[in-house]
Amino acid sequence: MAANNIMAQSSSDYDVLVVGAGPSGFGAALSAATLGKRVLLIDRNAGPGGVAVFAGCPVFAGIDSFDGSVFGGMLAKLIDELAPDATIVGNTLTTTEDRIQLAMTRLLRSAGVEMLFYATLTGVTRENDRIRDISAYCAGHNLTFTARNFVDATGDAVLSRLTNIPVIHGSPDETMTKTLFFKIIGVEHFDKSDLKKRFAEKCFPYPHQDNFMGTTLGHSNQLLLNLSAVSGDAADPWDLTRMDIELREQIDVIVPWLRREFPEFRHCEVVSVAPNIGVRASCNIVALETIRCTDLDEDTPVAEPVAIGKRSYGEHYIKQFSSPWQSNAGGFRSIPYGALRTAAVSNLAAAGRCIGIESSAISAVRLMPVCIGTGQAAGFAAALDFPSYAKLREVMKAQKCVFAAEDFRKSNLKIDMESLNEIKKRSRKRPEIQSKSTPQNGEYSYLSTLIKPNRRCTNVVPKITK
Ligand SMILES: Cc1cc2nc3c(=O)[nH]c(=O)nc-3n(C[C@H](O)[C@H](O)[C@H](O)COP(=O)(O)OP(=O)(O)OC[C@H]3O[C@@H](n4cnc5c(N)ncnc54)[C@H](O)[C@@H]3O)c2cc1C
Repeated sequence: MAANNIMAQSSSDYDVLVVGAGPSGFGAALSAATLGKRVLLIDRNAGPGGVAVFAGCPVFAGIDSFDGSVFGGMLAKLIDELAPDATIVGNTLTTTEDRIQLAMTRLLRSAGVEMLFYATLTGVTRENDRIRDISAYCAGHNLTFTARNFVDATGDAVLSRLTNIPVIHGSPDETMTKTLFFKIIGVEHFDKSDLKKRFAEKCFPYPHQDNFMGTTLGHSNQLLLNLSAVSGDAADPWDLTRMDIELREQIDVIVPWLRREFPEFRHCEVVSVAPNIGVRASCNIVALETIRCTDLDEDTPVAEPVAIGKRSYGEHYIKQFSSPWQSNAGGFRSIPYGALRTAAVSNLAAAGRCIGIESSAISAVRLMPVCIGTGQAAGFAAALDFPSYAKLREVMKAQKCVFAAEDFRKSNLKIDMESLNEIKKRSRKRPEIQSKSTPQNGEYSYLSTLIKPNRRCTNVVPKITK
């Protein structure tokens, strides 16, 4: 069959088809395959990782959110795979983009997930309340795939929008700034808290940023900077290109400014700029149970928890770091099963940063460990044909997933020693990093204890030589 002179190929009989191979799509595909299902994972990028790999953010923040701890479910599998090539400081795991891509690919392959990259979702055929098939463009071919169930892990709710499912299209104000990550070398030793103080007193060339955001990458001499930012609509094709161009120009201004204003940066040089813009948020499905700011503020009980999110939200505002509606309520709140489902279509679940949540609350669910958690829940649910909550819960428990904030609180910081020791054995010997202070988040320091003496945690950026 020919379409526009290009051979159209199709494939069918998938139990679960996941569109988007970021952290949530990874979690969804891996969990569905773990139950023995035939799974296809497609992404327009060259591999899995999403923002972590293709927007240059190899930093998993909040890996403690899943007691058992991080050692249950799909996040545990990934951390296990990444640990030998990662640094864990407090509750944050930092590694490199290539390690994430490799680790995810290996896990997906060994679970039997079929992967198709360089494939862009272009269309959906919907029959009443079901998706029948999807189309994707890849390597000069228009491809069609059928499956029993689908997961929208595109971050921007692309599959849902193409299915005409109602979405909340957040305003640029609500959806936080978009950032282009870049890495520099040649920075001399500095104390991060002192630098943050001095940074806040200076006049950054762009109005949005009053908070120095930089992370050393493992044991490399590179500093990852999260300083560029624009406001705009990532679901608007023209705006996306406009933002990309502006962000690249910003970096060309920020780097000379850093050199001028901070003696430690006087010799710094850019070594890489991320290929894609990092989009924090754009569109979210209108879900059976859309999470609202008031739910997080009041910590309302969740009847059917499937993953664990945070209660705080409202940073990376377009005028300064904190938004006018920022809430710093500490702790966790469960994400309900209903936030992944929509009334409009029965064979679809959303995962990751496009689940049902008000735009201004998005940061409660957007960190990568949380996205893997909602992905895992969506994957299990799709694999089981969207079962009752009781059945889903039973399966997730059997797969050692910790997904209810209540469980997390109750069994706070219970360590799975077997997994820890296993990771320890596999960790490679690495040079020590000088450490001036212990992690602020002392109660989570077991993670750093785990990797001593191979890795040492520090809040202080290590001495970097050019
Ligand atoms: C600037 C920035 C800094 C961040 N910092 C941190 C941090 O330090 N720590 C942390 O834990 N989290 C951080 N995050 C949050 C985190 O990276 C994201 O929220 C998370 O990656 C979202 O996962 P996801 O799977 O939902 O979506 P994404 O990671 O966005 O993945 C979506 C995938 O879908 C694919 N896709 C989209 N449309 C199509 C299509 N039409 N066809 C085929 N494929 C498609 C994309 O190519 C992509 O691979 C940051 C995010 C940003 C933007």
